[in-house]
Amino acid sequence: MEARVKALETILVDKGLVDPAALDAIIDTYETKIGPRNGARVVAKAWADPAYAARLKADATAAIAELGFTGRQGEHMVAVFNDAETHHLVVCTLCSCYPWSVLGLPPVWYKSAPYRSRAVLDPRGVLAEFGLVLDPAVQVRIWDSTAEIRYLVIPQRPAGTEGWSEEALADLVTRDAMIGTGVALVPDSLRAGVALP
Ligand code: FE
Repeated sequence: MEARVKALETILVDKGLVDPAALDAIIDTYETKIGPRNGARVVAKAWADPAYAARLKADATAAIAELGFTGRQGEHMVAVFNDAETHHLVVCTLCSCYPWSVLGLPPVWYKSAPYRSRAVLDPRGVLAEFGLVLDPAVQVRIWDSTAEIRYLVIPQRPAGTEGWSEEALADLVTRDAMIGTGVALVPDSLRAGVALP
């Protein structure tokens, strides 16, 4: 595979169709500048602002663009909201389609054949391997990303975070929670029943 990619790259560069420096700049941007914190800000705003959540539900691409997160691999976004009855999980069964503009580059496991097939065949088994065991009554819905549509899971807001700032809320939102292989973090202080400032 590496040799095939190298051969293809050589031809494209020789024909002047791609500029290696431009490719490096794009990769660096998504590797080091754009990452899951963008998505966490979207989720935190949706938790804190019901009007924003409604816009996100109606047109995720536009609502995400309000925060300045646009660009490659995020042109057509759909936000799916977890609730007490439904847990959403995102996969690309065909390859590795992923919402770069809000989550950065996909983790290696997201691109692996076992995840891509088993997320569909045995989602509860896959979730359990990520340490997430759902109540059997909760329905799991799988969303198959494509070149046209990328999904962002909006996890449930942890109880006891009423009145938190968007910044503090964003710290509870992990990359995996936005793929659906995890849920939002519950702060230790909440687990311990300690009052928060
Ligand atoms: Fe794909």
